[in-house]
Formats: sequence, structure tokens, C-alpha cells
Amino acid sequence: MPTIAAIPVLTDNYSWAIHGIDATRIIIVDPGEAKPILNYLAKNNLKLDAILLTHHHWDHTGGVQSLLSHFPDIAIYGSKLDEIPGITHFIKENEVIILENLSAPIHILAIPGHTLGHIAFLYENALFCGDTLFSVGMGKIFEGTATQMYASIEKIKNLPPHTLIYCGHEYTLANIRFAQTLDPDNTKLSFRKSEVEKLISKNLPSLPALLRTELEINPFLRCDKKPILSALKNKGYTGDHAIAALLFLRELKNKF
Ligand code: ZN
Ligand code: FE
Repeated sequence: MPTIAAIPVLTDNYSWAIHGIDATRIIIVDPGEAKPILNYLAKNNLKLDAILLTHHHWDHTGGVQSLLSHFPDIAIYGSKLDEIPGITHFIKENEVIILENLSAPIHILAIPGHTLGHIAFLYENALFCGDTLFSVGMGKIFEGTATQMYASIEKIKNLPPHTLIYCGHEYTLANIRFAQTLDPDNTKLSFRKSEVEKLISKNLPSLPALLRTELEINPFLRCDKKPILSALKNKGYTGDHAIAALLFLRELKNKF
């Protein structure tokens, strides 16, 4: 099992620190800001080996240049389509990153929709999926189409159920409040809510989220399921295919 730590950055973002076999050397996913990363490295006496970038938005990449000025030799992995300054290795779908200090390769999944070049990193059972899937939610469709976002969500849905979702934001509680308006009788959703409330009150992250649970409580993974579909119809949805339902749901969330 890899050791992965959450580093809170900006207001509600997480950068993720993946500790290697030599646990004093780490890899950072999505450094939205440099200072908290530098503090984490200094406080724990760690060395930074590499940076993984899920997509180009500033709240996921804002710390890159400053980290590069401190560590000019690090490898930075990201999608060619997202064109992020500082990238040393452009990566794409089905490629694998092998880092000597990790016990397993990192697999690359293309998950366009939020941005066109959005990628996810799968390391053992840990999925770093940026702003595509959140716990009990889904990212906004900014650059891609609903069809692309749907395919990306399906790709994540089809990963093994023990996959852990390490997403980019602490949005879980707000997402649960929205989900409960559609799925009020879902006892697993209510259970997750009390669990998350406890974590947040202790200033702990609600993440990672277990895919198996998400499949039962995240409305964006359940657009084809009866309670969600009938809730959407009650709100005016008249479409007849899963992509239209996903888009309608995303638009409802935008207005919530
Ligand atoms: Zn984003
Ligand atoms: Fe973001």
C-alpha cells in the first residue's frame, strides 16, 4: 500500500504527496500553490522527485514555477493537450510512468471533459483524477463535451471497486447536500454525510473516497439508476439517454 498524504492548498484544493519506497522521497500531484508543499518537505525532511499534473487550471498548477526554481532537476509529467509550462514529460492515454522509488508503475488515463487534456494517474489502487470526479460529485464540463465527460466517467466507473479516489477539491459536504435533494432515501448517502461531518469537524480530509461507495451514493455515477432518473424527471428532464441525463444533472448542480 502506498502512503499518500493530503496537503491542503489554497481554499479547498488538495495536493497529494505520494511517498516512495524510500519514504523520505515524494512525488506531488497538482501543486496548486508552492508554499504548503515547501513547508511539508521542510517539516518532514523530504526530497521532491517529481510532479504529476492532472490538468492546466491554476489551482492545480500554480506552484509549479516556484517548485521548479527550488528543484530545477525534477521531472514534471502532464498532458501535451493541456500545455502547462514546466512539463518535462508529455504523457498520454495508456502510457505508463515508471519511477524508481515507487513499487508499481503509474498508469495514465485520458479523462477529457473538464479540460480537453485532463488526465488521471492510477498508482496501485489510488486514482488521482483532478477535477473530473469528486466524492459525491463531478467536475464542471468546461472544455470538452458531455459525451467526452460521460466516457471519462464511465472509464472511472469501470475501475476495480476498491479503487480509492484522490480528487482535487474538498467539495464533499456541499456535494452530499445536493445529492440528498435527489436521493433523500439513500441510507448510504446519509451515512457518508455523518462520516464526512465528523472528519471535517476534526479538520481532516473526506478523501480518498472508495469507488465502491461512490457507485452507491454519487448521483453522477447513478444517472441510469431509478431514484436518480425519476428525480431528474421531476425536475424537468425529458431526455432518453445517459449522456443527456448526465448533462442535465450537471446543469442542475450548477444552479444549486
Ligand atoms: Zn480544474
Ligand atoms: Fe480545480
